[in-house]
Amino acid sequence: MSSATAIIIGGGVIGLSTAYQLARKRFGKVILLEKGPVGDGSSSRAGGIITGLLWSETGILARKLSLTLYRELSEELPGYRFGDVGCLNLFDPPAWPERARLLPLYDQLGAPYEILDAGEMHRRWPELAPGETDIGLLDPLGGYSEPEEYVPALAQRCRELGVVIREGTQVNGFVQRNGRITGVTTADGPIEGDAVICTIHTWTQQLLAQLGWPSPFKAFVHQRYVSTPLSADPTAAIHLPAINANPYNGYIRPARGHRLLAGGETGWREEFRTPAPDFRMSALTVPPAVQEKLARDLTPLVPALGRTQWESEKVGLIAFALDGEPLLGPLAEMPGLYIGCAFHSGGFAYNPAAGLLLAEFVADGRTQIDVSAFAPDRFAPGDVAAYLTTTVVQDGAVQRRH
Ligand SMILES: Cc1cc2nc3c(=O)[nH]c(=O)nc-3n(C[C@H](O)[C@H](O)[C@H](O)COP(=O)(O)OP(=O)(O)OC[C@H]3O[C@@H](n4cnc5c(N)ncnc54)[C@H](O)[C@@H]3O)c2cc1C
Repeated sequence: MSSATAIIIGGGVIGLSTAYQLARKRFGKVILLEKGPVGDGSSSRAGGIITGLLWSETGILARKLSLTLYRELSEELPGYRFGDVGCLNLFDPPAWPERARLLPLYDQLGAPYEILDAGEMHRRWPELAPGETDIGLLDPLGGYSEPEEYVPALAQRCRELGVVIREGTQVNGFVQRNGRITGVTTADGPIEGDAVICTIHTWTQQLLAQLGWPSPFKAFVHQRYVSTPLSADPTAAIHLPAINANPYNGYIRPARGHRLLAGGETGWREEFRTPAPDFRMSALTVPPAVQEKLARDLTPLVPALGRTQWESEKVGLIAFALDGEPLLGPLAEMPGLYIGCAFHSGGFAYNPAAGLLLAEFVADGRTQIDVSAFAPDRFAPGDVAAYLTTTVVQDGAVQRRH
């Protein structure tokens, strides 16, 4: 074990996974600082859907890692099980050619898939009633994780591995020495470390503005719902995959207690600027019309939804970098500082791989896959400035789902 110290800011799934991987590598002392309780940001609010069938080589390779790690974590974390039901990505005929162009890349990178027509989808999942022209791209390795199982189980495992998790501790700034980031400041004083890993999602913009770094992403409010049980028998299983139902403006998957979990876009909504460093996502709200529209949009696809009401709502934030890809890795101009954020609506899916890759950057100085396409400082400063000075609605940002 080394005598080094790593400081992780943020106790969402990205920070927890990084802490877990650093502890497994016996990096040294690993301290995670979280301003609220762990999972206080988007992580406890996520739908938890994961597919490996993304749109870029780096994304596909990172998701392959995530899918392997999720299965290992399923064995390792008491109280957590990966929802191994497959992920069905739906397309309508106009959207399909763009995705079909990626099939050779999936073949080349060993990301398995099946293409299903409407009849075959209905045969496999009788609860599903796709439109006649819908095309299904099934990721047989995909599925979902329940955030309320995964987040506490991962935090608990981190503690068992010796990670110091300090909840209720907000980082207010950085310690800098000789052009390096050598620690963070909190209300209780500075904490010195060899590496600082910033995994604070949309709060990154405010904290890193202190270092003169404009974070190249925009954030949007996003919401998901869980239905009342489909039947009186809460132990009955729902035979459905996790579905990225693109032609139906949303996504839907089985949830605990014979329920359905679903979410959807609000493309008309203007970007959200995190108002203060101590902002909490519990302050976010959504007009009631959103949940009514979601049920209307998704019921033709999953008619059983029509027999339910929405029982609970979770509202959080999703963040999109200029090109829609994550920001992950060291910041070249600030040695000692590493960043993991802007995972679009797919940070839950990315988290096991993102944590491993950040831990590799910190502990080994290199990663097992080339993630230069995710380098946080990959954009030209002029492009970032132009992006950040405009205000857009979500439909005007890059469109990415899970
Ligand atoms: C409704 C909804 C549904 C979603 N569905 C999916 C899905 O199906 N699949 C998927 O892959 N992704 C999904 N996502 C996206 C996913 O939730 C996020 O990408 C992911 O949780 C981001 O994790 P994180 O650790 O980066 O951020 P967070 O979970 O937000 O964690 C950041 C943490 O940093 C803390 N923090 C902030 N500032 C400071 C500070 N100065 N000092 C200390 N701590 C600080 C915050 O309190 C917070 O706990 C969804 C998101 C939402 C909102």
